[in-house]
Amino acid sequence: MPTVAIIGAGCSGITALKNCLAQDLSVVCFEANSDLGGNWIYNTEPSHSSVCETTHIISSKTLSAYLDYPMPEDYPDYPSHDQVLAYFRSYADHFGLREYIRFNTRVARAELQPDQSWELTLANGRVEQFNYLLTANGHHHEARHPAGISEAFTGRYLHSHDYKNNKAFADERVLVIGSGNSGCDCAVEISRVAKKVDISIRRPHYIIPKFFLGRPSDTFNKTLQYLPGWLARLGQKITLRIQVGRYAEYGLEEPTGPVTKNHPTLNSELLYKIRHGKVHPRRGVTNIDGNVVTFKDGSQGTYDTIVAATGYKITFPFFDKAVVS
Ligand SMILES: Cc1cc2nc3c(=O)[nH]c(=O)nc-3n(C[C@H](O)[C@H](O)[C@H](O)COP(=O)(O)OP(=O)(O)OC[C@H]3O[C@@H](n4cnc5c(N)ncnc54)[C@H](O)[C@@H]3O)c2cc1C
Repeated sequence: MPTVAIIGAGCSGITALKNCLAQDLSVVCFEANSDLGGNWIYNTEPSHSSVCETTHIISSKTLSAYLDYPMPEDYPDYPSHDQVLAYFRSYADHFGLREYIRFNTRVARAELQPDQSWELTLANGRVEQFNYLLTANGHHHEARHPAGISEAFTGRYLHSHDYKNNKAFADERVLVIGSGNSGCDCAVEISRVAKKVDISIRRPHYIIPKFFLGRPSDTFNKTLQYLPGWLARLGQKITLRIQVGRYAEYGLEEPTGPVTKNHPTLNSELLYKIRHGKVHPRRGVTNIDGNVVTFKDGSQGTYDTIVAATGYKITFPFFDKAVVS
């Protein structure tokens, strides 16, 4: 019987495990943590997880659930991180997956052998062989820092990966760099307590409210997929215009191209906060000198803290560079 190793017991690893078992494969899932759930194990200390105290998913529960195991009926449309984690753990329990997961076991090295099998070296020194390898080590845990900021800025600097709650931001002047999902979430949450919050947006892009006509936006968008492509794209643009109006009304540059051209930013509060004077949009950063940041339009701001919500690096530290560069 072919043997399979899976690296990681987040939501991707556990469903890979379940499906391998369904094919009667001999499978072992290696998990560095003491429990499963990956990104959804909220932790106030630095850890693998990038969720913060107030994180709720931005994809609806309908479209975030496994097809054969829906989220509980009593969950809200956008569950909190602890509900999401409980759901993944109940999935694992329901399908009897835990006994196939080796917890507290980090894979240090994965080497392809001449016969195309895989040799895994574990952090505890053990070496094991498998016919096949699936990697599910996550892609939202190694912070991508913008070049030069931590050196040039004399205030406090952190990446959104290390943002856990807004307690340490009371009465501060804060700049959030980046307006993806993490950046918008951080700006909104910090604006509840800070003196001032600016958000630096380098390129215009769509910010999509989480509901349309009382339904989660992604479920509405899914119904549009049954239309011809051009009509669906037009439908997305029209419905977004009805919801939001022109982005210029919020001091934002108008995005062009299809709404789903890039990874969508879903946030119902950012535009509201902008119009309530709690969050101020800024252009891209061109210079930092001490506490003063200069933006592309020549304007400047002075800040106590910068939060870089500038994304993550996708890394496979257990592979030789020749396997995945
Ligand atoms: C703040 C935030 C909000 C998000 N919201 C959404 C959302 O609403 N909807 C959505 O679809 N996605 C969302 N995501 C994306 C998120 O990445 C996915 O939801 C999901 O967690 C990815 O699952 P995964 O199993 O691929 O990786 P992870 O959840 O990151 O799990 C990877 C697992 O691999 C383990 N591991 C890593 N390296 C090793 C090793 N060498 N040996 C052994 N084990 C290892 C880790 O300990 C971890 O348990 C969000 C991400 C963030 C950061």
